[in-house]
Amino acid sequence: MMQLFIPLNFLGFVYREIRGALANIERMFGLLERSPKVFDCDGAIKHQQLVGHIQFEDVGFSYDDREILHGVDFDIKPGQKVAVVGDSGAGKSTIVKLLFRFYNLNRGKITLDGVDIQTLTLNSLRRLIAIVPQDTVLFNDTLYANILYGRPNASEDEVLQAIKLAHLSDFVAELPAGWDTKVGERGLKLSGGEKQRVAIARAVLKNAPIMVFDEATSSLDSRSEKAILEALSDAAKDHTSLVIAHRLSTITDADKIIVLSKGCIVEQGDHDSLLEAKGLYAKLWNIQNQ
Ligand code: ATP
Repeated sequence: MMQLFIPLNFLGFVYREIRGALANIERMFGLLERSPKVFDCDGAIKHQQLVGHIQFEDVGFSYDDREILHGVDFDIKPGQKVAVVGDSGAGKSTIVKLLFRFYNLNRGKITLDGVDIQTLTLNSLRRLIAIVPQDTVLFNDTLYANILYGRPNASEDEVLQAIKLAHLSDFVAELPAGWDTKVGERGLKLSGGEKQRVAIARAVLKNAPIMVFDEATSSLDSRSEKAILEALSDAAKDHTSLVIAHRLSTITDADKIIVLSKGCIVEQGDHDSLLEAKGLYAKLWNIQNQ
């Protein structure tokens, strides 16, 4: 069945690829309808190998005339898990958008392994980062095809491995048609937690050195949340990971937590040291854990 399925869908995949391998990311940010203001610079280079060292150096950014990030400085070492937390509107998603270079900075720079992302081709930059968005875009095709979207030339074994790492194996085993099951328009036949795990499997398949996880704001039941957290921690092994977190309970194991307030980093450290500091993080923690 799969042997038949893959050639028949191949053209579809090529089309989707051409239409933009990044559509998922761009839709996540609602940018698809806008004319892009960011282009490859003259002489932009392709960056293929990366250990995954991310640095934001004095990053200042405005949407139109309103400054949103004011001198943001942080460092994520290869293999680290770093979380960004803060009130709604603090600028967390903006940090991710800038990492993908959806906008140019007003000042400062963002580097990957010491290379300014402005000097990279947009395609090569965006291939280095896999994202698990809050709201995953699924198309009305099989589960297999939806996962394969992460890297259309991946083998069946690689898809199987991604399913395993995303903790979807039991779910797939229970489906009457297994991974040939259609997920419905926009994945309507899947729960929120299952959709996020499909997104994790996709991201795993992309096998990019950097993984970004934008935690869904809508609360999942605790069993789904646990499954997602376990899937993420397996998926992020050996990767640099950046988590935009809304529930602080999900990031207590992060190597570093960056606390953002009104576009400024007000604190950074691990969970224990931030609690001890009794600053904004401790305040948010207390509110969420009353
Ligand atoms: P939340 O937790 O609610 O998702 P956030 O911390 O991720 O919030 P951002 O989405 O980064 O916050 O937004 C930071 C600020 O920038 C907000 O005040 C928001 O209204 C504004 N903003 C975000 N996107 C745009 C845009 N495309 N154009 C203009 N302003 C924007």
